[in-house]
Amino acid sequence: MSTEIREIARALLGSHRAVAFTGAGISTESGIPDFRSPGGVWATNQPVYYDDFLTSADARKEYWRQKTLSHRDFANASPNVAHRVLASWERDGRLRGVITQNIDELHQLAGSENVLELHGTARAIGCLQCEARFDADEMVEEFGRTGVVPDCPHCQGLLKHATISFGQSLPYDVMQRAVKWAQEADFFLAMGSSLVVTPAAELPAMAKRSGATLVIINRDSTPLDSIADFVLNGEIGEIMTSIEESVRGG
Ligand code: NAD
Repeated sequence: MSTEIREIARALLGSHRAVAFTGAGISTESGIPDFRSPGGVWATNQPVYYDDFLTSADARKEYWRQKTLSHRDFANASPNVAHRVLASWERDGRLRGVITQNIDELHQLAGSENVLELHGTARAIGCLQCEARFDADEMVEEFGRTGVVPDCPHCQGLLKHATISFGQSLPYDVMQRAVKWAQEADFFLAMGSSLVVTPAAELPAMAKRSGATLVIINRDSTPLDSIADFVLNGEIGEIMTSIEESVRGG
């Protein structure tokens, strides 16, 4: 086991307000592709902007088409070792919680309870008018069969996945809590995020400025590597397994 892994485990064990921050990269080993990697969703699809969704029936149809395609990846996915390790650290009182950019709910399925979803969830559909919420499976399945964009069954309002689209602001209360966690953190572990999209990408820097040990795990380099205490470039599953072994004294 490398010295770096042992030092990271020691820093985690010595911390009192450790926080994890996760992006799409933690879920690729569960079979959910990220968007920015070569061959990712954005190599072949243009994201639908929120304003276009509101004003154009064609944009809404394209949005539902894309979401129906990606829903299959979400619906069939299970948490992987990295999700499970984070959930066990939270259960053991080593981790305050997870701030995530992900919309797949795999942290919750692994057993994490304190999860701040910056970009919402793709497992629910919300009405933009009356705010009713529905399970995504049935509506997505129906769109897949009929190609008809559904309206809210209660008020005929527009229905959209409960995720944050381009051009839509992040949920204020969730963001406020994420900032507080980052500022109060003494150990901050960012993984599977390219750390390029603000304001979420600012959270690790905020934690570092407040005195946290900053650890970045990612396949590729990130703009925050130069301020991190530890940067591990590689596959998240393998690295988290090693850290966990070291934490458990293996
Ligand atoms: P991103 O820009 O954060 O990129 C993901 C990063 O993870 C990349 O830098 C990639 O090199 C790295 N990575 C991928 N697999 C890895 C692995 N196994 N080990 C280590 N590093 C790995 O995220 P994005 O793909 O551009 O997605 C943008 C937004 O779209 C997300 O913030 C999220 O809201 C949404 N999204 C969510 C999911 C999900 O919920 N699983 C998947 C795709 C996109």
